[in-house]
Amino acid sequence: MRPYSVERGGSRCYDPTEMSECRSLYVHVPFCRSKCAYCDFNSYARQEHLIPAYVDALLREATLWAESRAVGRVETLYFGGGTPSLLPIAETRRLLDGLRQRFDVATGAEVTMEANPESVDAGRLHTLRRMGVNRLSLGVQSFDDAELRFLGRIHDAERAEEAYRAARSAGFASVSIDLIFGLPGQMVAQWRRSLEKAVALGPDHLSLYALTLEEDTPLARRVAAGECAEPDPDVQAEMYTLSSERLAQASCEQYEISNWAKPGHRCRHNLAYWHSEPYLGLGAGAHSYLNGYRLANERAPGRYIELVAAGRGARPWGPTTAPHVESVEQPDAEREMSDAVILGLRLTEGVSMAALGHRFGVDLGERYGREIDELEALGLLESVDGWIRLTEHGRRLGNEAFQRFLP
Ligand code: SF4
Repeated sequence: MRPYSVERGGSRCYDPTEMSECRSLYVHVPFCRSKCAYCDFNSYARQEHLIPAYVDALLREATLWAESRAVGRVETLYFGGGTPSLLPIAETRRLLDGLRQRFDVATGAEVTMEANPESVDAGRLHTLRRMGVNRLSLGVQSFDDAELRFLGRIHDAERAEEAYRAARSAGFASVSIDLIFGLPGQMVAQWRRSLEKAVALGPDHLSLYALTLEEDTPLARRVAAGECAEPDPDVQAEMYTLSSERLAQASCEQYEISNWAKPGHRCRHNLAYWHSEPYLGLGAGAHSYLNGYRLANERAPGRYIELVAAGRGARPWGPTTAPHVESVEQPDAEREMSDAVILGLRLTEGVSMAALGHRFGVDLGERYGREIDELEALGLLESVDGWIRLTEHGRRLGNEAFQRFLP
């Protein structure tokens, strides 16, 4: 039975003892050496002086949750950012050891760290590997130096290749590469060259993202000022199709709209999101999804540190929610079901109508019959053996399909 609802700072609370099915832990590290031109993530340059206090705050927040019994055995631990690989090794060790003391991290847990090429070298990677990080996600973005400069990245293509090779030498058996395609003015041939360089390195996993213009970023301002063109969606679609075909030849299976993996290398942590499983997020701006509640932390690192310290002895639940938790929402069942369908449709395998229907006590075929028929008629969706999934065409127009499932 679902516990009663929470109001931020109000008097109602939920019972965390009902939340022990959470197996995924996300830790947000919001520091970057400099801010990229296109980035609207919760990340900050020139704030590294906050790192020791930030790690203290993360561990304090972890203590609150560990005491709440909200988290079961941790099967996936993901350090995202920002640039988690920017943390000094001593702080990374303190953080990892502290998390292991507070949570039951499974022996075979997937432990991912996002890293930028300029922030890792052979020594650091060996140490991270020895500390139990077993999956590295490298933010390469492009293997073209001019494109990297345009994006405001501070590494070059050679440094990216070095970082990849150093990760392999350090013993990382699972390495992912992130690339961005569809830059203003980028030709399909240029994208193909970056993709080919990535394929030649032989990563176990690739995440490919079409460049989007985010408000209030230097790149959006340059486009608004007419200094460069907008990304062209038709060219991006062509690049996406090319990527799907090329990666299939390279034995990388597409398992999500933006993600490809060799067998056995799908990102288990991100699969938990797409399967709408619970997760706990620690850190500035981190989100959690626990027992049907969505929580979001204060975004600014300095303020987050202050609020976690001010809430010493508080609980992440209770008559008053801990002050670093900025919002707590309980989506209604309709919204939760819609979120689960939309997230599940991101996966190539799609959504099992029976499993999701059982979870929500609803006949999904009846509930979404009209939407499914319309999307099938448009060639965006297909129903196969009780599953619904996006077609190849649908994967290129995901948002058009998703909005039909909004409540
Ligand atoms: S490194 Fe990543 S998080 Fe940091 S500014 Fe660049 S894109 Fe944003």
